[in-house]
Amino acid sequence: MKKAWKAALLATFAVGAIAVSGCGGGSGSSGGGDLPQIGMAIYKFDDTFMSGVRARIEADAKGKAKVDIVDSQNSQPTQNEKIDLFINKKYKAIGVNVVDRPAAGVITDKAKAANIPLVFMNREPTPEDMKKWDKVYYVGAKAEQSGEMQGKILADYFKKHPEAYKSGDGVLHYVLIKGEPGHQDAELRSKYVIESLKKEGIKVQEIAQDTAMWDRVKGQEKMAAFISSYGDKIDAVICNNDDMALGAIEALKAAGYFQNGKYMLVVGVDATAPAIQALKNGTLLGTVLNNAKKQGDAVFNLSLVLAKGEKPTKENTGFDIVDGKYIWVPYEIVTKENADAILGDK
Ligand code: BGC
Repeated sequence: MKKAWKAALLATFAVGAIAVSGCGGGSGSSGGGDLPQIGMAIYKFDDTFMSGVRARIEADAKGKAKVDIVDSQNSQPTQNEKIDLFINKKYKAIGVNVVDRPAAGVITDKAKAANIPLVFMNREPTPEDMKKWDKVYYVGAKAEQSGEMQGKILADYFKKHPEAYKSGDGVLHYVLIKGEPGHQDAELRSKYVIESLKKEGIKVQEIAQDTAMWDRVKGQEKMAAFISSYGDKIDAVICNNDDMALGAIEALKAAGYFQNGKYMLVVGVDATAPAIQALKNGTLLGTVLNNAKKQGDAVFNLSLVLAKGEKPTKENTGFDIVDGKYIWVPYEIVTKENADAILGDK
């Protein structure tokens, strides 16, 4: 953080905190006094990565805003009802982790009619929907970057360990376990991991791919099916997130992998705590930090500034506002070597 805008940011928050002291403070639905009211609709509470973002938003809100965080239960109609309620309650800003990306346009129309600024997060609306109104923002990470980083992790490994090509033909035979189809992170990670491998000069061949919808149990089931169909033909398992990678590792363990010299290379994305544990015990080769804490900070800081009727800047949010609308939080490669450092400061 550069000193000048860090000081400005702290000053903004300090003023906010002083203004509300004695009014009860606290986030959540209790207390709040004159704190600005902000609504947050998460696509589903039962998602490991989004739970991290949510926890951070709740922590950041303490004493600064009254944040009403709701579970859309993976249903767009449910989310729409929750957003209608936020609008009826005249909240000052609304954060949306949209269930179905195409629904972002209609949500924007409603918020615009009520003049309530919107902060989308994690599931990126189309550029057309983002252009519908100047008070619409997006906080996320560049999906293609995470795919490129996964490719780099695998390429580095295969360059150092040519014996890892199990069929001895110098071709990396992989299976891909994909997140939710249509989600930018699922589509772009799947595309860019392969492009990055090719750019690194690695020859690749896909054996199979299937979606496990970001879910650990589904990841385990899909991997069990891949093992029974293709077994030792697989050199690497590429997963769009860590939960699915951890599920795949469970299936591999059940099939006798990670013991007696039987090995499989597995990569994920997110750098969740259990994934870091798997990195350390050698079952996960690598992952990519999808920084839930920084994304939570960005969503909260931006929403608070908007709720106060201010124009977001780097000074008052702590983040660069790109093209007047976007906050991008960078990904980072995580392997056994830097796992502890990443855990320490993420
Ligand atoms: C994360 C996944 C998560 C998904 C939810 C992605 O950015 O990597 O773990 O399930 O967002 O939308």
